[in-house]
Amino acid sequence: MSNETRHLIAGNWKMNGALQEAKDFMDAFGQNPSPDHVEIALMPPFTLLHSMSDRLASMGIMLGAQNVYNEDKGAFTGSICPLMLRDAGCHYVILGHSERRSIIGESNAKIRSKMNASWLHGLEPILCIGETLEQRENGVTNIILAEQLAILKGAPKGAPLTVAYEPVWAIGTGKTASTEQVTETHAFVHQELQRLGHDCRVLYGGSVNPGNAEELMSCPGVEGALVGGASLKADSFMDIVNATVKAVS
Ligand code: PEP
Repeated sequence: MSNETRHLIAGNWKMNGALQEAKDFMDAFGQNPSPDHVEIALMPPFTLLHSMSDRLASMGIMLGAQNVYNEDKGAFTGSICPLMLRDAGCHYVILGHSERRSIIGESNAKIRSKMNASWLHGLEPILCIGETLEQRENGVTNIILAEQLAILKGAPKGAPLTVAYEPVWAIGTGKTASTEQVTETHAFVHQELQRLGHDCRVLYGGSVNPGNAEELMSCPGVEGALVGGASLKADSFMDIVNATVKAVS
C-alpha cells in the first residue's frame, strides 16, 4: 500500500442531491469523528461541488467528482475538465465506475486517457474495477480485474491513485461479497498492483451499509469503502465511518 495508511470512506451520491439536501446532509453530519484513523470524501453531482466545497473542507471531508473529461478545454459541449474540478476544490475523481462502463460504454482506453488528464492537473483518480455475476460464476474474475488494471501500464510512478474493487453484482443490489471473497480478491488486486508498480490503497464497494461495514473494513487488504446508497443519509454514512474507526483502531 502507499504512504496513505488511513482507510478512506468515500460517498458516491451518483445522480442524487439538490442544494437543500446537501445543506441538510452537512448540518446533520458534523465533523470527521476520527481524522487520525479515517479519511472521508464525498462525491456529489457536479452541480453541488462549488457550493459544498468550503463547508466540507471545514468538516474535514475531502471533495471529489464522479467523472471528468479527458481534454483540458474546448468544444466539448456538456463536458467538465480536470481544471474545473480543481477550481471547485476537488481532490478525487471516480473513474471507471461500472455504471459508466455499462451504461455509457466507457472503455478501458478512455478511462486511461481520463486518468492521464486527471494526473496532469493534480487530481487523484479512484479507479473502479469489478466483475459481473456471470464473470464470477464463470471463474474469470481475476482475468477481468487484471484486464481492467492493465490500463496502469506505463502510468507515471508515484501518481496519486486509489483503486476501488466493486463487484458489479453487489452495487446497489443489497448483496455484498462474502468476507472470504473480499479478502481473496483484494489480495489478488494488491498483487497485480504491485506487479504493475502502483500498489496503492484498495477500497471495497458494493452495498456497504452500517450493518456490514465493520466486518468488511476488517478484511485484510481492504483500506476503505466506496459507498453509494448509504452515503445519501448523514446518519447511515456516519455509522459507516464509526464502524470503520472501530475496525481499524
Ligand atoms: C457505488 O456506487 O459505487 C456503490 C458501491 O453503490 P452501493 O453502495 O449503493 O452499492
